[in-house]
Amino acid sequence: MKSFYNYTLNELEDLVTSIGQKSAHARTLFTQVYKKQIDSFENIENISLELKEYLIKNISLELPKVVKEQVSTDQKTVKFLVQMNDGRTVETVLVPFEKKYTICISSQVGCAMKCSFCFTGTQGLTRHLDSTEILAQYVLAFKWLKKNMPEKSAPPNIVFMGQGEPLHNIEQVKKCLGILFTTEGLHLGPRQVTLSTAGYLPGLRDFNDLMGINLALSFHSPFDEQRNELIPLNKAYPLSEIIKQLKTINLRKRQFLTFEYLIIKDMNHSLEHIERIKELLTGLPVIFNLIPFNEFPGSPYKRPLMKDVEWFKEQLSESGFHTMVRTTKGDDILAACGQLNTK
Ligand code: SF4
Repeated sequence: MKSFYNYTLNELEDLVTSIGQKSAHARTLFTQVYKKQIDSFENIENISLELKEYLIKNISLELPKVVKEQVSTDQKTVKFLVQMNDGRTVETVLVPFEKKYTICISSQVGCAMKCSFCFTGTQGLTRHLDSTEILAQYVLAFKWLKKNMPEKSAPPNIVFMGQGEPLHNIEQVKKCLGILFTTEGLHLGPRQVTLSTAGYLPGLRDFNDLMGINLALSFHSPFDEQRNELIPLNKAYPLSEIIKQLKTINLRKRQFLTFEYLIIKDMNHSLEHIERIKELLTGLPVIFNLIPFNEFPGSPYKRPLMKDVEWFKEQLSESGFHTMVRTTKGDDILAACGQLNTK
């Protein structure tokens, strides 16, 4: 059976008309499944009986199974271990951010990029997720939120920061976004979505196809040699080429590129780093997001002292870069950045 979540609105209209029904029924279905979260075709209203029977027989509204659910000790961050049809699992995390929730979504099982600071990177790539599997993570985390915190009913924001390099799977990410942005469905806007990349240049070249979403680059060091160690992908696509490509991205007024900067103890937060950053990035609309490194079992790096993080933040701010420090949520369930693992 094909999944309902695999269809764009246009594809659903084609399906509905191919069985002799009015295309308007496709819009009704989108609204009731995505906005009203009706999870059985029997309960869909205002469609013909014939269409209802067809859908029940041929299309599935089933979501992947959540095989484990962990809530952090502060009761705010929730991590789901989601099992796909072939038994592979990925993690999806619901994270509170200011007044809203954000859903951190995985785009692949494992990841090919092998970043040395990343728990997921230790596993290698098992496979890409398809658009249905990516979208289903959002739908099931949103359902959980509506059930458990009904006061938080607005569709949460999304960050593609879970397992995988989303630009390595850009076609499936693009299809998923098209469905999420559909007015009759969840009607998310590009401002609500941030995609984080390690700098996968072939995908970055097509970034403008992703409808104006926000981009976050895992930067971590302005020196290629050091970045090669942290992100081996940098050997193939060095910083100079990435920065050149970033300059071609169409940004809205007041839209910034986020540069994620993992601060690792005694490694990448000296005055030389500041000077090189100024040389490379002055003039680019960049916001720095500093992330004190989270140690994981067997990690080769150490967490920095907070006073060093604050010093680096001040230096960047004084150099004219808007800079924030990300407070880590959910460390106790390993749901912080770079700590996801399918095991
Ligand atoms: S940090 Fe991102 S790109 Fe790098 S290995 Fe981990 S999941 Fe892949």
